[in-house]
Amino acid sequence: MSYVDEVIERVVEKNPSQPEFHQAVKEVLNSLRPVVEANEEKFRKDAVLDRIVNPERQIIFRVPWVDDKGQVQVNTGYRVQFNSAIGPYKGGLRLHPSVNLGIIKFLGFEQIFKNSLTGLPIGGGKGGSDFDPKGKSDREVMAFCQSFITELYRYIGADTDVPAGDIGTGAREIGYMYGQYKRLTGLYEGVLTGKGLSYGGSLARKEATGYGLLYITDEMLKCHGDTMEGKTVIVSGAGNVATYAIEKAYQLGAKPVTCSDSTGWVYDPDGIDLDALKEIKEVKRARLTEYKSYRPNAEYHEGRGVWSVKADIALPCATQNELNLEDAKALVANGVKVVAEGANMPTTQEATDYLQANGILFLPGKAANAGGVATSALEMSQNSERLSWSFEEVDAKLKGIMVNLYHNIDKAAKKYGFEDNFVAGANIAGFEKVVDAMNAQGIV
Ligand code: GLU
Repeated sequence: MSYVDEVIERVVEKNPSQPEFHQAVKEVLNSLRPVVEANEEKFRKDAVLDRIVNPERQIIFRVPWVDDKGQVQVNTGYRVQFNSAIGPYKGGLRLHPSVNLGIIKFLGFEQIFKNSLTGLPIGGGKGGSDFDPKGKSDREVMAFCQSFITELYRYIGADTDVPAGDIGTGAREIGYMYGQYKRLTGLYEGVLTGKGLSYGGSLARKEATGYGLLYITDEMLKCHGDTMEGKTVIVSGAGNVATYAIEKAYQLGAKPVTCSDSTGWVYDPDGIDLDALKEIKEVKRARLTEYKSYRPNAEYHEGRGVWSVKADIALPCATQNELNLEDAKALVANGVKVVAEGANMPTTQEATDYLQANGILFLPGKAANAGGVATSALEMSQNSERLSWSFEEVDAKLKGIMVNLYHNIDKAAKKYGFEDNFVAGANIAGFEKVVDAMNAQGIV
């Protein structure tokens, strides 16, 4: 049996009930086959893949807090410090009822390669909790965040592990966590990113994931003799990533016509009203059901359905496994030419295979959504030098990072004979840097 197959088998056997983690590991290891096979015995002897699929450290803890009725609630907190070969652990905190160890491990594993692809010195980690901020009062959210950090503060720090936002963790949550970290340690340091602008946050961090997604998609199109101009774009999600992907899509001359949340989706044939979307989601923290009151011509549908709309480009920006084989078939039948992932692993493996087999240009999340964490690393730099850069400066750096990233994954794909297979290119390019750093540092 090949070393890749041995490791996949061990991961599945040793980590039962973690299907998302298995999925992420299989996707990465399968595309590393040519790299591993070229040096099979050395990889096996040094247990390179075994080390890379085992987190350096996993922290699981109780998070007790008191709700507005005086009832004590208990959630589980997680931080998986996956790989620090190229820098301090870096990755978001997901607050969502679906969170469990397997989901945090899949996200942390992806983060290793994503962070490597940014070209910046950040290792991979991820954390979060099964706490649901939806429907909670500000006081309840603060109580949870303070309790969460009261345990986690021991394991994080500006030079060790720097958490950030993810689904359910935005500026409000990061603020409460930062305040509690400072209170417990007395340190005013860049321990979290995605901070508010008044206390060390970076301009353009909020926009970065969505903008970055469009910068890399645009670069890929340009390299294939096309542009974003005049394209119809279908987007899922209505959070930070989707909102700023829609904003940048407009700026590049495209027309985004859909968005979605956990209860339904909107099709606006005239193009999504960005101001309405921001007001509904960022100000009112409400449901997309409200969208029709701003735009009577738009359609609102319960459930899921964004991928059935005719378009040129699809940008899944909601969550993992939101685009399945049936959706992929609908996209191909409707003439979609590009799928670029704003979320982490939003496309199932079968759907990815189908899209690639049908000639769709497919940009995987670990490349396409890396603009968020890249800009987090720029926030860390600004915190370290105790300076703040202008929006234009950060945005220009972000664009440069995404353009470079595209060329790196394109080069890696071509080197191994996988032209236009950006899944292979991203996995190989991300992996090579991490393994090089791990080898240089001995058996760690
Ligand atoms: N949660 C984001 C991601 O999936 C951002 C992480 C960060 O900024 O550290 O990459």
